[in-house]
Amino acid sequence: MIYKRSSQLFSEAKKVIPGGVNSPVRAFKAVGGEPVFIERAKGAYLYDEDGNKLIDYINSWGPLILGHAHKPVLDAVIEKAKKGTSFGTPTELETKIAELAVKMVPNIDKIRMVNSGTEACMSAVRLARGFTGKEKIIKFAGCYHGHSDSFLIQAGSGAMTFGTPNSPGVTQGTAKDTLLAKYNDLENVKELVEANKDEIACIILEPVAGNMGCIPPVKGFLEGLRKICDETGILLVFDEVMTGFRQAAGGVQERLGVNADIVCFGKVIGGGLPVGAFAARNEIMNHLAPDGPVYQAGTLSGNPLAMAAGFAMLTELHDNLEIFESIDKKTEYLHKGMDKVLNEAGVSFSINRIGSMISVHFGKEPVTDFQSSVRSASTGKFNKFFHGLLENGIYIAPSAFETWFISEALSYDDLDKTIEEVGKVAETL
Ligand code: PMP
Repeated sequence: MIYKRSSQLFSEAKKVIPGGVNSPVRAFKAVGGEPVFIERAKGAYLYDEDGNKLIDYINSWGPLILGHAHKPVLDAVIEKAKKGTSFGTPTELETKIAELAVKMVPNIDKIRMVNSGTEACMSAVRLARGFTGKEKIIKFAGCYHGHSDSFLIQAGSGAMTFGTPNSPGVTQGTAKDTLLAKYNDLENVKELVEANKDEIACIILEPVAGNMGCIPPVKGFLEGLRKICDETGILLVFDEVMTGFRQAAGGVQERLGVNADIVCFGKVIGGGLPVGAFAARNEIMNHLAPDGPVYQAGTLSGNPLAMAAGFAMLTELHDNLEIFESIDKKTEYLHKGMDKVLNEAGVSFSINRIGSMISVHFGKEPVTDFQSSVRSASTGKFNKFFHGLLENGIYIAPSAFETWFISEALSYDDLDKTIEEVGKVAETL
């Protein structure tokens, strides 16, 4: 495929935008090469500035569960825009989307809208601290909760020591309140809780991880965390920014039957517009301003266009629950197909999948946490795999540390074509 115009646009972008992108992972740094500039998209396909058509497995990093430019979502936004784009006052639609979310998600009474997943997680942690009066938090190596300071803590620190910042600009003072644990390792969490008795406000995690590849929780992990929290008064925060309204209508809480105390949303809840949200039971949410002392606000929070897109998206999902089964089946089909052709090619690999999230790892050992994900990425095969697929019209995330997102817009023909290309690329690895 030719990427001449993308390349020119990237050169121009780099002169006026840091690294040429407004979010780092878009720059293809991990896999090498230059990013593809997209001109438009429809359904399962992206069309780039050079006229190439790509089958999309990123779907804007998760929001577009029904594919690009989905008509009911698009119509809702267009109609709303005609009435004005922002008022900075309450609107009826905010209540309607909140009612729908509370109906779909188990174990929540109230929900507050923000503008991104980062804001959702940042605010959830502040609320947890305000509610419990404790300052420390536990996060897991390899889990991503947005770019707010408390979460940018280096993986690989000794589990019993305080975190150290892995981005300049995060102070030691902030970092020392973030304790790092190993994903899928309950014993490690127990040790941290024991060593920091009565100091921990919350344990935050992706209940299905998608930011170190797709890594499902091992059996008993979430249940074990729930038990630890129940015994100690620590709040359990599920970051369902990727998994909310995707792993089931009610997210991982519903799919795996474990309740969280605070749940964070993003991506699907905004239907492709900038939305995040966090939710909990009344006793916790009532601590939030203006009813309670924990401050949190936003000029464009609950913005009419974003709410129109989100409401249309959630309504589609709520009224067509069979979509969840359908995308899971498509993902399973893709899994089986890739399994076959990768085996035939004789490469060492493992595929992780749960619901409509899936990732391919190259290496002999299973990928169950950040360390094993890093080891598989270090084989270097992923980068070749990525570029091989891109050259043949298949667009997966440009990093081994990302999940693929399956959309309902993908047809079985698209999946067959993908499996065929995976097979061809695998022969070259
Ligand atoms: N949490 C998770 C699990 C995420 O995957 C992301 C973004 N990929 C975020 C939080 C941050 O969301 P945003 O990029 O909208 O700030």
